[in-house]
Amino acid sequence: MDNCNGFIFDYSKCVGCHACLVACYNENQTVPPVSWRVINHFNKEKLPLLGFIHQSLACNHCIEAPCLKSCPSGAYSKDAITGAIIHDADKCIGCKYCTWACPFDAPKYNEAIGVIEKCNFCNSRLKEGKEPACTTNCPTGALSFGFVDMDKPKGFGISQKPISPRINTFGDEVLHSIPTLDMDAAGTEGYDVTQFLKKTTPSPINTKVEWPLALFSFFGSILVGWFWAGLIGNSIEFPLWLFILLGSISALISVLHLGKPLRAYLSIINVRTSWLSREILSMGIFAVTAFVGLITGSFSLIIIGSIAGLLFLVCIEMVYSVVRKKYSTYIHSANTILTAATFFTFFANYYDLLLLLLVIKSALFIARTAIIEVKQVPLYTLVAFLRLFFGFVLPIGIIAFNPNINYINQLLIAFILIAELIDRALYYNEIEPERPIHFERELVVKKE
Ligand code: SF4
Ligand code: SF4
Ligand code: SF4
Repeated sequence: MDNCNGFIFDYSKCVGCHACLVACYNENQTVPPVSWRVINHFNKEKLPLLGFIHQSLACNHCIEAPCLKSCPSGAYSKDAITGAIIHDADKCIGCKYCTWACPFDAPKYNEAIGVIEKCNFCNSRLKEGKEPACTTNCPTGALSFGFVDMDKPKGFGISQKPISPRINTFGDEVLHSIPTLDMDAAGTEGYDVTQFLKKTTPSPINTKVEWPLALFSFFGSILVGWFWAGLIGNSIEFPLWLFILLGSISALISVLHLGKPLRAYLSIINVRTSWLSREILSMGIFAVTAFVGLITGSFSLIIIGSIAGLLFLVCIEMVYSVVRKKYSTYIHSANTILTAATFFTFFANYYDLLLLLLVIKSALFIARTAIIEVKQVPLYTLVAFLRLFFGFVLPIGIIAFNPNINYINQLLIAFILIAELIDRALYYNEIEPERPIHFERELVVKKE
């Protein structure tokens, strides 16, 4: 592993004074509320004996930088001399995907201008032989700049992903000596340690924020599933006007949710490493081949369109591979390929298969949501109940007990649509980007 220069952080010396953060503002002429360096505070509840510790963190200029690999527009680059990961705001489309991929929460979205900004390693200072402003201004020596040993085990609060961040931490032995075997006996009476261990941190990804993505991926699944059904004789006909309408709405939603919609064309630049770029490219190929195939009736175009549609859905799933899942099943009920398969079975009139898929999806939905603490929220429970009612109870009743299903097709598809949309929307409450604060629970260490 390449050793290199980077940040050295000593937990035992950081007093949380924010001098590094202010130095960064001054050096880079940035202004609150966007701060390239942040100070994370652990144990805000101030549970006795856990310690109240701080962590000063900015971009760690990872050698295998996931932000650089994920960015669809190629807005990130690596400085060949200093190794700094530099962000070019002029190439940023404001999709925020890099904020999902970075486990240090380093890329900051600037709402005012609709693009990301982040620590640049004080690259010009480094090239002049100086140290970064933040390390120079740390009064206690907790944050410094120097040789980073890449073989040193990653300390507390540092992602274990194999991305080689340029940071070494020290002083975390202070944390590992916390006596926790018997918290009550250790003076924590009156403090809810169980709640501390269970507590969740608000995720920047949730249904309210990501509804455009939920709709986009949902419409994409319907279109692909329906298009696949076109390969089968006697399937329910795919009206061209509906394809155009749904396709246009999907495209519009995907573009309008960007911070810089007019730069959307840049999103296919990084096909080499970005799943988001690949998703957008395969969506384009699917849309064009499917559209022309539907007009001309060309079977080869319909085959190409079907394959491109599958690739599009695979790419959607891969886009979400960078985030943490709160559920533990390998596949989840709102998986776009599974959803497309459900619509395929409906439109192809394969009701036995549809029944099977509805059962599998409902079981996966229960498995996904049962472990979510948010289920204790009454509204969430009601919505989850509706998902199962419309996606399991009603369709299964209709398919099982109606000999002539064709008469009630419209009712059946309406129920499935409602259930699938709820499922997809709730999915966004059950994923989150990795964040340093997720390590907080490690503060409570079982002492053998
Ligand atoms: S290295 Fe420079 S840009 Fe990065 S956090 Fe420190 S002061 Fe800010
Ligand atoms: S810390 Fe985050 S933003 Fe910085 S290089 Fe690593 S992944 Fe990218
Ligand atoms: S284009 Fe998207 S992924 Fe790339 S820097 Fe901008 S917000 Fe981040």
